[in-house]
Amino acid sequence: MSSASSLASKLLRREILDLHAYHVPDSAGYIKLDAMENPYSVPPALRGEIAHMVAAAAINRYPDPAAASLKEKIRGVLGLPDGMEVLLGNGSDELIQLLAMALNKPGATLLGVEPSFVMYRMIATFTGMRYLSVPLTEDFSLDLPATLAAIRREQPALIFLAYPNNPTGNLFPADDVLQIIEAAQGLVVVDEAYYAFAADSFIPRLARYPNLLVMRTFSKLGMAGLRLGFLAGSAAWLEQLEKLRLPYNVGVLPQLVAGKLLEHHEVLLRQAEQIKRDRATLYRQLSEIAAVRVYPSEANFLLFRVANATEVFDGLKQRGVLIKNLNNGHPMLHDCLRVTVGTPEENAKFVAALKESIS
Ligand code: PMP
Repeated sequence: MSSASSLASKLLRREILDLHAYHVPDSAGYIKLDAMENPYSVPPALRGEIAHMVAAAAINRYPDPAAASLKEKIRGVLGLPDGMEVLLGNGSDELIQLLAMALNKPGATLLGVEPSFVMYRMIATFTGMRYLSVPLTEDFSLDLPATLAAIRREQPALIFLAYPNNPTGNLFPADDVLQIIEAAQGLVVVDEAYYAFAADSFIPRLARYPNLLVMRTFSKLGMAGLRLGFLAGSAAWLEQLEKLRLPYNVGVLPQLVAGKLLEHHEVLLRQAEQIKRDRATLYRQLSEIAAVRVYPSEANFLLFRVANATEVFDGLKQRGVLIKNLNNGHPMLHDCLRVTVGTPEENAKFVAALKESIS
């Protein structure tokens, strides 16, 4: 009889065997600035209300498959143009997967820019979709001529653009993104995971472009633990995509708790405003360190470059601060690190630990 591992190697698809799992390090005991989470919890009174709701929730029952009440609240805070709908995902990761499954006709291509969010490539790989990327320029701007040429040449069925981009933090010029949407014959998904920290959004432009969807997540706004993302766009697209959504992909508790939090949306937006102010302070502090090159950001994190990034990353860890080491990932991110904006106290500890780790 063969061992489980030889059997697995024989039966599994080659692409799966070759994949590296998305690595999430153990963060217990660290100042956690690695995953773009909101560092603030909700005010005690609201927490009390949530506790009561959770205690009374019918967790013995399946959730509302349409999540009608939650969707209504999302529509309420979004300001969706007329005729536009939302489709909910168990995090936006799930929606990337759903889109790839839906558009993966034989030979279809998923196009991204790089460096960007790694799940676009990963999901293309495990759904068996052809993946193609266009490099950003050296300062992480869009290379518009190269991107437009790739679109004309390859006719991708699906394009993802993170707006702002992760892990670089910059917001591509809206005009460039519009040119991409106009040039594309395929579907363009503008991934606004970091919308709460950015100055622009494509939601108001949805009605103008039949090949545009906007994807968002509530993960960065204070609900990472709930796993909730959504696609916004025309009913014509979303009715079709809805067929691929697993019936109960958003559980009873996420529906309830996210719904309650959205009734207090202003609390979360105030936290985002605080994070934006602290991002400006942190940006200034990092730019004052001679050995650091920090990049502009419209997200809740900053990308920066140092000599010997892995040593600096380890030095920070030894001092109790966990950030994201991007060195050894994409070649354009050589010696790059990414820090999530935390509370002012966490940021101060990070800056002090960084200075010690560099010297
Ligand atoms: N898109 C981008 C650009 C991201 O950075 C992330 C999270 N790192 C996601 C999507 C996925 O977010 P979630 O699955 O938590 O909704």
